[in-house]
Amino acid sequence: MNRKPITIHYPYGEMVPSERFRGRIHFEFDKCIACEVCVRVCPINLPVVDWEYKASMKKKQLKSYSIDFGVCIFCGNCVEYCPTNCLSMTEEYALSVYDRHELNFDHMALGRMPTVS
Ligand code: SF4
Ligand code: SF4
Repeated sequence: MNRKPITIHYPYGEMVPSERFRGRIHFEFDKCIACEVCVRVCPINLPVVDWEYKASMKKKQLKSYSIDFGVCIFCGNCVEYCPTNCLSMTEEYALSVYDRHELNFDHMALGRMPTVS
């Protein structure tokens, strides 16, 4: 009787995610080496890594990177296995959109800071 309600009036109230909540993935373009480990460990090979080989530098150069959160199951495998830690899971959970194609985040959208910290 004296306890406060547990439910919140979404979207007017903000939920506090539990510890180790797996929300929207954050990506750091500068750290990515285009190794594609994230693609290989993803159960559905979801991340799209576009790169080209730079012969002058003798290494791959990342051109673009994207993850479709309309398909992602937020298992965290890509974050776990990325060798340069350029992926991380944020606590951002509000991913509702009117058009499902808006959930296909490119590296610019993946690189913005989470709205929930
Ligand atoms: S595993 Fe990490 S470094 Fe390798 S392509 Fe994926 S995001 Fe880039
Ligand atoms: S969280 Fe899981 S499903 Fe989503 S991109 Fe990473 S490995 Fe794939």
